[in-house]
Amino acid sequence: MTAKGHKFPLPLSSLENKSSSRANRSAHSVTAVATPQTATQNTAQHIVQNKKRQDVTRTSASIKRNLPESVLAHAPSTRARSESDAHHRDHHNGHHKKVMALPLALDAPRRAMVARLIRQGVSDQRVLAAMGSVPRHQFIDSGLVAQAYVDASLPIGYEQTISQPYIVARMIEIMRNGRALKNVLEIGTGCGYQAAVLAQLCENVYSIERIKSLQELAKKNLRSLRIANLRLHYGDGMLGLPQVAPFDGIILAAAGMQIPEALLQQLAIGGRLIAPVGERQQVLQLIERTGIAEWTKAVLEECYFVPLCPGII
Ligand code: SAH
Repeated sequence: MTAKGHKFPLPLSSLENKSSSRANRSAHSVTAVATPQTATQNTAQHIVQNKKRQDVTRTSASIKRNLPESVLAHAPSTRARSESDAHHRDHHNGHHKKVMALPLALDAPRRAMVARLIRQGVSDQRVLAAMGSVPRHQFIDSGLVAQAYVDASLPIGYEQTISQPYIVARMIEIMRNGRALKNVLEIGTGCGYQAAVLAQLCENVYSIERIKSLQELAKKNLRSLRIANLRLHYGDGMLGLPQVAPFDGIILAAAGMQIPEALLQQLAIGGRLIAPVGERQQVLQLIERTGIAEWTKAVLEECYFVPLCPGII
């Protein structure tokens, strides 16, 4: 069931279609696997790292089965290419404009991170190349640099976290769906890491942060990377950025109980929004706008994110 004929704004619960209901049910059947997004959960995550690796592979396969046709249509081949292949390909396509310099000592862990992402089921070569080019260690506290490329979220202050590499790559891959993205909006800049990754893949990236000190931190982290196609905004991301809408991609890095209506309105027809939804139990939701007053929803995997909060501080 789509929302066709209904008056906007709509509660998202009314938008679920048949296939996404199936996805929802199936997604819950693989709920044993989570992708923790809080620093507290990281400790436990490390302990079960080996077990989780196997589980994540299984989850990725389940997710693929549960994704809507449109996602599967663009799912790249399962053959894993090496990171250098990804760079090479992008170079030839003329897509990959910025490859950032990394200190040699951190080159190997970053490569290992990309190899792990491939094992975890991320297969979009451009996403892998972007993840391989952004120096994650530049976005975290110097005391945590040794953990910069592990698959964990890490504290960035103000009770917020830098997202786990897997979830960053996975969400961008789903939002991108193999398409070139022109206008993309990120809610929750945090330390600026995901915004930097997005800027490798999209023509224009807008990122909103509600905590002034974090927006300042992101500016500082991003300065040396000189990313021309990224604009940071201080404000309440729940309101979106109507002045530069519509967006062909919207990505939320914080979980609300529902997707803010302003963001649904600012999604272009044919655009994709990906967001964690829920409080203690959260799931990734993929919203596609299929018409003027028509959206579809698919429920993907479980996740843990910091809360989406209204207002600015
Ligand atoms: N994108 C970051 C993740 C940051 S954590 C990364 O690359 O790792 C999520 C961020 O969302 C926090 O900084 C939090 O302050 C912010 N946030 C929560 N609610 C928000 C809102 N309504 N508008 C903008 N930012 C919000």
